[in-house]
Amino acid sequence: MARIIGAIASSHTPTIGFAFDGKKNDDPIWKPIFDAYVPIREWLAAKKPDVMLVIYNDHITSFFFDHYSAFCLGVAESYDVADEGGGKRALPPLQGHAALSRHIGTSLMADEFDMSFFQDRALDHGCFSPLSILLPHQDGWPNKVIPLQVGVLQFPIPTALRCYKLGQALRRAIATYPEDLAVVIVATGGLSHQVHGERCGFNNTAWDERFLELIEKDPIALTQITHAQYAELGGMESSEIIMWLIMRGALSARVRKIHQSYYLPSMTAIATAVYEDDADPPTEPELAEQRARIGRQLDGVEKLEGTYPFDLERSVGHYRINRSLHDLVHPEHRARFLADPEGAFAAADLSEVERDLIRRRDWRGLMHYGAIFFVLEKLAAVSGVSNLDVYAAMRGQTLEAFQKTRNAAVTYSVAAQDD
Ligand code: FE
Repeated sequence: MARIIGAIASSHTPTIGFAFDGKKNDDPIWKPIFDAYVPIREWLAAKKPDVMLVIYNDHITSFFFDHYSAFCLGVAESYDVADEGGGKRALPPLQGHAALSRHIGTSLMADEFDMSFFQDRALDHGCFSPLSILLPHQDGWPNKVIPLQVGVLQFPIPTALRCYKLGQALRRAIATYPEDLAVVIVATGGLSHQVHGERCGFNNTAWDERFLELIEKDPIALTQITHAQYAELGGMESSEIIMWLIMRGALSARVRKIHQSYYLPSMTAIATAVYEDDADPPTEPELAEQRARIGRQLDGVEKLEGTYPFDLERSVGHYRINRSLHDLVHPEHRARFLADPEGAFAAADLSEVERDLIRRRDWRGLMHYGAIFFVLEKLAAVSGVSNLDVYAAMRGQTLEAFQKTRNAAVTYSVAAQDD
């Protein structure tokens, strides 16, 4: 079974990555940053986690205001480094653990956390700044990573208490994963800083020290603090430290802090901490109850003939073909697809199986393969085919035979109609 073997907390300021890439190990200004991470690197080398669940926030790099979500779990097989405006850092992509991600996502939803999920999005300094100094990576990263992106930059954002409760649910999720995996939770962000407005440059070391004390010994007290109070105490952008409460919620009351550091070189207080958890593992009845809760919503759906729920496994496994068919909502892609379908297939890097299914407009075959119906109706609209033709094909009937099963023999599609 998967188990949480400990947790790390770390600021994620870009200065960490800057100092690392600039090889400033011996520069007296930057050396304290490197020194702070030595014991954590040694702890990780000894513990050898299989997976790190990294709680971070994107800084309006890969997540924009066209769709901003609160808790967004990565479900991909790998994650690239984001370009934040000046080119990508020279870091290898992270390997994800897609099966564990799916399990965690399903368990959190069963616990009534309305998660969102992402793939095909690069991770910015919120994740890579601490990871690049925590782990060796010249020949690839030593463990897999599951990123959890928290939307803390466009208010309203989750409360501190909600973050803590999400952490508690995360603990139940990880404990019920059947594979034997050692998991480390990594919280990133903070501590005190403000990067905008006339209060830009605000820090509060006394509050940072108090926060580091409370997160270990009395996290419940931290769950009662409002966003405005966090801003007053630590600066507006420091309210991202509510992400540390997700990590703390995933640990028990019996935590032991085995390392802590604090350094304030410029704008953001750089803190690190490592916690080990002395709690007993969950009992078998507790695990059984959570497993039953996880399975309850889709239990029995497999008995429904001709029914294929579009789940995270289908979504991640068949992202490429769904992506290419979804692109048909853009007029330029549509025009290219109609004028040069083979060129469009090549540009989308579709496999021969995928190209063949689309060429033959094999509606049922596409659905069995992993395309969701709602991209098929776009392909139908582009192809001048009605939705009813697609429904009939799903059933293996002619249009006329299928129409006889309806109250009215109509056809329609999602294409716009000429006046
Ligand atoms: Fe940040």
